[in-house]
Amino acid sequence: MTLRLSSEVFEIETAYPFGIARGTHQRYGRVWVRLTDDDGMEGWGEADPSYYYGETAETVVAALAAYAPALPADPFDLEAAEARLAATLKYNPSARSALSAALHDLVGKRLGVPLWKLWGLDPAAAPLSSFTIGLDTLEVIRKKVREAAAYPILKVKLGTPDDRAILRVVREETDKPIRVDANAGWTLKDAMQRLPLLEEMGVELIEQPLAPDDIDGLRVLRAASRLPIIADESCRTAADVPRLVGAVDGVNIKLSKCGSLREAIRIVRVARAHHLSVMVGCMMESSLGITAAAHFTPLLDYVDLDGAALLKHDPFQGAGIEGGRVTLPTLPGLGVTRR
Ligand code: MG
Repeated sequence: MTLRLSSEVFEIETAYPFGIARGTHQRYGRVWVRLTDDDGMEGWGEADPSYYYGETAETVVAALAAYAPALPADPFDLEAAEARLAATLKYNPSARSALSAALHDLVGKRLGVPLWKLWGLDPAAAPLSSFTIGLDTLEVIRKKVREAAAYPILKVKLGTPDDRAILRVVREETDKPIRVDANAGWTLKDAMQRLPLLEEMGVELIEQPLAPDDIDGLRVLRAASRLPIIADESCRTAADVPRLVGAVDGVNIKLSKCGSLREAIRIVRVARAHHLSVMVGCMMESSLGITAAAHFTPLLDYVDLDGAALLKHDPFQGAGIEGGRVTLPTLPGLGVTRR
């Protein structure tokens, strides 16, 4: 058997300009990856490159060309294939994760089972997903919180001089659980100063308060904080987990950071072995990218898979997070179709 690789760059656009501590964007170039086998069966994956992690749609397309010769003849050869892809061209994690998703999609389709079933997971065990309120003016933040009424958990972007005002506006509108994500926007001093406010506002957890490499700072902050601290930018792959032990309470997995579905599950296992909690997050993604990550949500404590829910138009249909509830497809493989 041989696998034929094809790819197509497409653009997604968020309903609102999406602001985090590092900047604001509204349009994102994504890559739809397809692997076709000799029977004409297709495995799909989405690359969601992030400039912060060194990728663009253009680097993904270039990386795919380099990865093509390392693709397996047999899609079931997953472990060796992923190892070969990682050795062929390092980094480029979103390009590799798209190929990983496409291989897993093909395997599920050939077996006639959805991925969660192949992994022996119970869809009912998936935690509720949060919905993100990006940085904006206070009036727009208030409007977004109202529009997110259907979602039971909010994730609020912070990491600005206006954090106090932002939290007050959100709390004026709702008493539902809120999680905050500073996207590495605070110094240790900023974070320490904000702890009493975060506790007073009933925040459930703090994501990536400090710079990714400030592990000593995270350790100091964690000792002072009553709220759990989750590493996102500080944790890309399973190899990052051991050094974070004692410095954080949990880690946030993203396929676009770790580079494959199997590496994502390795992170879960390594984190669990160190008694850490585990979250899954996303970039701005269509439902094709989101669904690949949704399949392993039954293994997790926290889910933040709102990428497709924040879009103006979603070209794909797959896992959903309506009302915060993660619904996993029952179609084979990823179970994603064109909308
Ligand atoms: Mg984050």
